[in-house]
Amino acid sequence: MDNCIFCKIAKGEIPSFKVYEDDTLFAFLDINPVVDGHLLIIPKTHHENIFETPDELLEKISVLSKKLAISLKEKLNVKAVNILNASGKEAQQSVFHLHYHLIPRFENDGKNLSFHGEKKEANDLERVKEKLLS
Ligand code: 5GP
Ligand code: ZN
Repeated sequence: MDNCIFCKIAKGEIPSFKVYEDDTLFAFLDINPVVDGHLLIIPKTHHENIFETPDELLEKISVLSKKLAISLKEKLNVKAVNILNASGKEAQQSVFHLHYHLIPRFENDGKNLSFHGEKKEANDLERVKEKLLS
């Protein structure tokens, strides 16, 4: 992808604050961090989002998420992390090269990740489950 900013970052064509690199993955500081230590993990190859990314890369990203989460804990005294991925513009994806956010969290940090909805009746839940399994 010629015009993809994250492809360019992965190739070192534009600068970034790199914290990890191997043959397939690259991790760096988000330029607009929610909090110090906010990281992005990307594959070096271009895949728009989770729908288009090979399973083996997703597996590697998951393992690297854990490794970098441990670094955040040990080096930045982070207490907890949110691992977030937006896949698709309706999910608020803004850069269309797959990336996982690692967002450090602290007690009473004033951030709020809340997707809590309202309780549904069992038959409504059953209907959704049946659709998914059909
Ligand atoms: P999304 O909104 O797609 O989930 O996340 C895109 C993220 O990429 C945003 O948090 C944004 O701050 C970050 N970002 C966009 N452009 C750049 C850039 O050029 N360099 C870095 N380091 N981060 C970027
Ligand atoms: Zn790309």
